[in-house]
Amino acid sequence: MTYTQSSDTGKRVQKRANRRRGIVRFGLGLVAAGGILAASLAPGVLAQTLLPSQSTIPTTISTTGTAAVVGTTAQMTVGTTETLTVAQTEGPYFKTNSPERTSLVDDTTQGTVLTITGQVLAADGTPVANALVDFWQANASGAYDNSGYNLRGHQYTDANGYYTLTTVVPGLYPGRTRHIHVKVQAPNGPMLTTQLYFPGESRNSTDGIFDPSLVLNITDNGDGTQAATFNFVVNTA
Ligand code: FE
Repeated sequence: MTYTQSSDTGKRVQKRANRRRGIVRFGLGLVAAGGILAASLAPGVLAQTLLPSQSTIPTTISTTGTAAVVGTTAQMTVGTTETLTVAQTEGPYFKTNSPERTSLVDDTTQGTVLTITGQVLAADGTPVANALVDFWQANASGAYDNSGYNLRGHQYTDANGYYTLTTVVPGLYPGRTRHIHVKVQAPNGPMLTTQLYFPGESRNSTDGIFDPSLVLNITDNGDGTQAATFNFVVNTA
């Protein structure tokens, strides 16, 4: 029961994302250098305005050196301070039509109860209300429910962009480190598919899909349960 998608898939996605971030940053630098940046523009409007210009930027231009410095200044000017959450492979066990619920735990659920809270944010840091957040994961024994919807559920962020999920710490299964799958989508944005990871896992260092930027911030509640936080940063258009 291993992923048929190789770790290369995740790496390719990440490389594309890295290239895109580099292009966007350089694009911002061009705008700032040209004096086109108007302080009165709303961040969202500016971001949308910039997107078409990406295709006009030669891919051979380096994003290092002066251009990167200018880009950083532009980001501060428009409030673009968040790094988009890294996309990862979906894996073979996603199912559509999961129940809408914030708790995946009932009286029969085995394992360490884990509550994950956080926000869905736009790239400029603005909370995204009514964003879809759809989780699925293995149970404490490392098995997915592929016939039903055990440990699967979706929800929508509140007016301040917050979600909360009550679940259990997933078990390990062959070929992977400990992880939770999730899809996140702003109301008018593209779907982000990614995975969340756990700190201090020995398999993190050997899992080809693992990304340290996706590690949960976990607190032991001292009562046998755990709490975790994670904010998603997504494209909103
Ligand atoms: Fe998985």
